[in-house]
Amino acid sequence: MSHGIVQAAYIVAGLLFILSLAGLSRQDTARSGNYAGIAGMALALIATIFGPNTQGLGWILLAMVIGGAIGIFYARRVEMTEMPELVAMLHSFVGLAAVLVGFNTYFDHGELTGAMLNIHLVEIYLGVFIGAVTFTGSLVAFGKLRGLLSSAALMLPHRHKMNLAALVISLLLLLVFVNVEGSVAVLLIVTIIALVFGYHLVASIGGADMPVVVSMLNSYSGWAAAAAGFMLKNDLLIVTGALVGSSGAILSYIMCRAMNRSFISVIAGGFGSDGTSTAGDDELGSYVELQVDDVAEMLSEADSVIITPGYGMAVAQAQYPVHEITERLRGQGKEVRFGIHPVAGRLPGHMNVLLAEAKVPYDIVLEMDEINDDFPQTDVVLVIGANDTVNPAAQDDPNSPIAGMPVLEVWKAKQVVVFKRSMNTGYAGVQNPLFFKDNAGMLFGDAKESCVRILEKL
Ligand code: NDP
Repeated sequence: MSHGIVQAAYIVAGLLFILSLAGLSRQDTARSGNYAGIAGMALALIATIFGPNTQGLGWILLAMVIGGAIGIFYARRVEMTEMPELVAMLHSFVGLAAVLVGFNTYFDHGELTGAMLNIHLVEIYLGVFIGAVTFTGSLVAFGKLRGLLSSAALMLPHRHKMNLAALVISLLLLLVFVNVEGSVAVLLIVTIIALVFGYHLVASIGGADMPVVVSMLNSYSGWAAAAAGFMLKNDLLIVTGALVGSSGAILSYIMCRAMNRSFISVIAGGFGSDGTSTAGDDELGSYVELQVDDVAEMLSEADSVIITPGYGMAVAQAQYPVHEITERLRGQGKEVRFGIHPVAGRLPGHMNVLLAEAKVPYDIVLEMDEINDDFPQTDVVLVIGANDTVNPAAQDDPNSPIAGMPVLEVWKAKQVVVFKRSMNTGYAGVQNPLFFKDNAGMLFGDAKESCVRILEKL
């Protein structure tokens, strides 16, 4: 394949990636967005593999078969609730790849001299630094999401000063690295600093703020790929990396706004409160336990119902009976709507995807901002496997790790039913005062089983 054809293929692939991002920004065009992305990636791979600069085709194909087999194996097995873990793991691979490309390019940087050599050294240094931060940061995110590491924030003393010191030392080492025209010792030292920095940056962020971290790491992995593109002189990798980096940063910004967090604090790591919360169960009073018959009766007497799903609905795969309950109630002339918190579940848009899968009509699925004012006029709210996203402590307890995070104000409805299995906390690890309010009742058990049993009674 000639150089011209490869460049033309890269431009078409770049356009397909932009179309893909545009498509993915809306539910009804997401599928075509995915197809555009797949087509762009296939074209990019073909153009790169059969391009004039590629050697060792046999090795590349062997690596693709092994990597592809592992990828297909995991993609088929992974549950939707495990997607963020998979994404975090994939980000770590991007980071590691950028580090390896950086060292490889360092040892084989050709005949460059003067300004071109300096620019090249800066590329290598930044690529290795961003890649190493992304690598360990993503591994910690994976550990927290998988439950291998505690989701609570690691609160080392002087943590912000340590982060700042790591950045300042890395900057000074960059000057040394360029000044001595490259030194493997300096590159190794900065790699170690960046690995520790990435670990600490993510470890110091608490569970409730993980969504922002995951999208931020997504952005970092894009910049790491772009840096690798500069080192490998591959225009498409630069463009693709920049697209991922900037769209990830925009998503992080949107999520920060949705969660009332400062964007700068996220980049600095360890934001939110100092984690010294909050009331224990005893101080919160007692709770009421409901039975399926009670809930069925409440629903048959209600005129308006709002359902607020959360992570537990995804775990239980309760979206199908939830949809059937919705249809049954709507058939009886009741108003039924859904209230979706922007970080409900474990990935952005998680609840929307589940509800779309169960064929819940889009027009009754409302965002938090669209529905929050309607709770006081609502007869019954069904909180299905949600916890942090309906926790009034976010508004009432300034010391809570989730303080300031906007929440669905379900407690303002006439009656609230909470579907969960126990009095356990949500992902942020804080107890929920909603469960102890006079107008709230607990329906214990697996959310799917509870919904199926309610359906039988309606
Ligand atoms: P939470 O994770 O706060 O709580 C989920 C609740 O579901 C738990 O309290 C659990 O209680 C219950 N549950 C679990 N399994 C079942 C089951 N089979 N049947 C019934 N209930 C069940 O959920 P939310 O969706 O309210 O909040 C999401 C949290 O995750 C937020 O803190 C968010 O910041 C964080 N997060 C979000 C990400 C995103 O991108 N959306 C990514 C990473 C983290 P019990 O064990 O008693 O049943």
